[in-house]
Amino acid sequence: MYNYDPKSLKAEEFINHEEILASLQYADENKNNLKLVDQILDKAELRKGLSHREASVLLACEDPERIDRMYKLAHQIKLDFYGNRIVMFAPLYLSNYCVNGCVYCPYHAKNKHIARKKLTQEEIVKEVTALQDMGHKRLAIEAGEDPVNNPIEYILECIKTIYSIKHKNGAIRRVNVNIAATTVENYRKLKEAGIGTYILFQETYHKESYEQLHPTGPKHNYAYHTEAMDRAMEGGIDDVGLGVLFGLELYRYEFAGLLMHAEHLEAVHGVGPHTISVPRIKHADDIDPSAFDNSISDDIFAKICALIRIAVPYTGMIISTRESQSVREKVLPLGVSQISGASRTSVGGYCEPEPEEENSAQFDVSDNRTLDEVVNWLMRLGYIPSFCTACYREGRTGDRFMSLCKNGQILNCCHPNALMTLKEYLEDYASEDTRKIGEALIEQELKKIPNPKVQKIAYEHIHDIAGGKRDFRF
Ligand code: SAM
Repeated sequence: MYNYDPKSLKAEEFINHEEILASLQYADENKNNLKLVDQILDKAELRKGLSHREASVLLACEDPERIDRMYKLAHQIKLDFYGNRIVMFAPLYLSNYCVNGCVYCPYHAKNKHIARKKLTQEEIVKEVTALQDMGHKRLAIEAGEDPVNNPIEYILECIKTIYSIKHKNGAIRRVNVNIAATTVENYRKLKEAGIGTYILFQETYHKESYEQLHPTGPKHNYAYHTEAMDRAMEGGIDDVGLGVLFGLELYRYEFAGLLMHAEHLEAVHGVGPHTISVPRIKHADDIDPSAFDNSISDDIFAKICALIRIAVPYTGMIISTRESQSVREKVLPLGVSQISGASRTSVGGYCEPEPEEENSAQFDVSDNRTLDEVVNWLMRLGYIPSFCTACYREGRTGDRFMSLCKNGQILNCCHPNALMTLKEYLEDYASEDTRKIGEALIEQELKKIPNPKVQKIAYEHIHDIAGGKRDFRF
């Protein structure tokens, strides 16, 4: 192993370029060393994760039998730790004002023909009401970086507004935040505002490419961006979400970098990332695709998902509507734990579909189904769509959530919570067909709760939800 320090607080030391190159070389030299590949897979069977180097060997290995074993193991780990639940969320775009120059993003400051929009608090009420009326309980708020138009005070005000809206039986119970890297002080304010996960995509871990892809604006600073999660944790945020924008750089480099980042968080803060997102670059307004021609096939994408599940078993994995129904169907069994549904990537898009000439969307969505269609589809595939937000509301964040996962308490806790929130969805928002499938699913899944006491209470709560009560949780 190259001599580097995952505990260092300096970006270039914990995401060590030489160590990544050495890992990729090691992986390349050993990709046909099936004895080593089998040893790594045996270690992965213990469900304690893998190092970036070990996982890189698996990523490089092209032996069909071993790949099959990777997929089966990823599926089994997902079932053991997460069961068949899939948590639902939607993004809410607050503002597309942005001072950065990210070459892959249509929000870049030089794009003069995109309609710049920022939601007022009244507009937020409308957007959130529309989201509640679909059945959403969990949002990820998104904004460009612009200290004048979208200062932290604006973001905090929006969060307050979102939590305050109670329309019919609707409520947004968890707001995750995806905004640009900021200061410890601002992270503390976000924590105080009651956010769930702070999400920040690294885009690329390759410093040189990073600087070229972010030529202007505050985001140009690689170290400030890469060290953001440490500042977020210093500011008291326990749950952070990592991600790479696949397609910008070579995927093997990104994969190793992503796992090194997870190892760093574990080494320094004692808890790894709460989630990992795997966005792939999409067509968007005013971007030149030749500037980052590293797109990955659906098969490689699936392998990356499976290996993330194996390498960091306790970390949730998120797939957005950047992916089509068929790709989502392919990766769901490989370890995905959260998906978005019925997403709009334009500012104000939930209330009014945008006229073509006003295009403010961030990227094209590949899954355009309604939330009801997504919920119906998931259940037909044997998954439980979950609208649960209990953990963070019960203070089970950071290592407390991880220990729930590690102690196998998911079936006594997350499982009934998923069923109760699904029941709420069926009562308040589902179509008749979805409701029918859902009722049968709940009946069947309640029987799987191992602790008889918990099972009895869950039955009672489901009964009470049918009678009009809401918001039970374990
Ligand atoms: N502006 C914030 C920042 O600087 O991190 C984050 C919000 S941005 C709305 C969310 C993410 O969208 C970005 O981090 C980037 O990975 C992704 N994104 C940007 N352009 C994209 C594109 N053309 N296709 C797919 N995803 C894109």
